[in-house]
Amino acid sequence: MDTALKMYRQFGIEEDVVQFGDRICDSLKDRFAQLDRIAEMNQLKVIRAMQDCHVQESCLYGSTGYGYNDLGREVLEAVYAKVFHTDDALVRPQITCGTHALHLALASNLKPGDTLLSISGKPYDTLEEVIGIRPSRGSLAEYGVSYKQVDLKNDGSFDLPAIEKAIDEHVRMIAIQRSKGYQVRPTLSVSAIGEAIAFVKKIRPDLIVMVDNCYGEFVETLEPSDVGADMTVGSLIKNPGGGLAPIGGYIAGTHECIENAACYLTSPGLGKEVGATLSVMRNFYQGLFLAPSVVSAALKGAIFAANVFETLGFDAVPGAAESRHDIIQAVTLGSADAVIAFCKGIQAAAPVDSFVSAEPSDMPGYDSKVIMAAGTFVSGSSIELSADAPIREPYAVYFQGGLTFFHAKLGILMALQNLKNYGIVDRII
Ligand SMILES: *Cc1c(COP(=O)(O)O)cnc(C)c1O
Repeated sequence: MDTALKMYRQFGIEEDVVQFGDRICDSLKDRFAQLDRIAEMNQLKVIRAMQDCHVQESCLYGSTGYGYNDLGREVLEAVYAKVFHTDDALVRPQITCGTHALHLALASNLKPGDTLLSISGKPYDTLEEVIGIRPSRGSLAEYGVSYKQVDLKNDGSFDLPAIEKAIDEHVRMIAIQRSKGYQVRPTLSVSAIGEAIAFVKKIRPDLIVMVDNCYGEFVETLEPSDVGADMTVGSLIKNPGGGLAPIGGYIAGTHECIENAACYLTSPGLGKEVGATLSVMRNFYQGLFLAPSVVSAALKGAIFAANVFETLGFDAVPGAAESRHDIIQAVTLGSADAVIAFCKGIQAAAPVDSFVSAEPSDMPGYDSKVIMAAGTFVSGSSIELSADAPIREPYAVYFQGGLTFFHAKLGILMALQNLKNYGIVDRII
């Protein structure tokens, strides 16, 4: 037996599963080469930005207290602005997660009487309470901000006539969510987002366009800010943190939007001038530096999984051959046992907590039990290999991440082996 087979055997993965995985990998060489090319462009973009902004060793040490004159923070925000090609950026450990970054972008740039219009349909679950679609303490609705949405068309494209009709004199901001999140629609490409932005700006040039960029960073060589978004917003424990950022969120955008967000995050009069960075700066810089490669590895894992499971007859979204605009992969497995077996496989492949058994449990905000598998270095980080599934029809599992392709590959092979052990997959083709 060759060494690789022996090593996979130590994880309980049988020869036919390993060899099947290798055949799938071989068939994806050209696809992976394209991803490497995108990662290469993005790596150059990040290094160029770091050099142009004169990142130096002293940037890597943080500040305490008020954080006045924090060189690392100021330079990092300039680096993000360069990478996203925006006037300015706010990149802070005080932004606790993606939802917080999005709330900050919205709340600081909308005033009582304004309307927020989502043109990509229902926003991500956690934003329902931010906006007040589900009544919630402190929501935008409580502060007199109204909300309207235009759904995407059945084919996943923007409904331009309906958008034009919805833009009245109260609409102040347009929201677009790039990733499908946990919906079944396709993820939007940057070029489709650009066309929609051009369309709404032609109707009203003064509209602010905010793009929820979660899971989208570095998947393509362009970002929403390259195609006209006034604010591009995301989480540092997803793509741009490269797996190393232990907390944080960012907003990259126009001078006006970033100033508003800074004054809301800290305080009027203080704005960007305060905010100690404690000891996270090295991780923020190094994570951004690694992010293009990490995102590329996660994408390879997603494409590998789509190909593995489609070949075995399961439904994958996006499909095996489809182009990618975010790092999330959904696979419909068709039964509760199957999603449980899958998630247990992902858990067993983790570097941390591999011995923990993933089990379905009740979760606030869900109407069915949910199973989650993750053994991550950063708690809840979904740029690290993780999977979750609501235990309900159509029994689809969503998974994403993988700091290295080899870890993603191991997780997927263990998930497949588990499906085989449960008798759900009986023959590996
Ligand atoms: C993850 C995510 C969010 C929210 O981010 P959290 O860090 O989980 O609060 C918002 N929108 C999309 C599309 C996401 O994927």
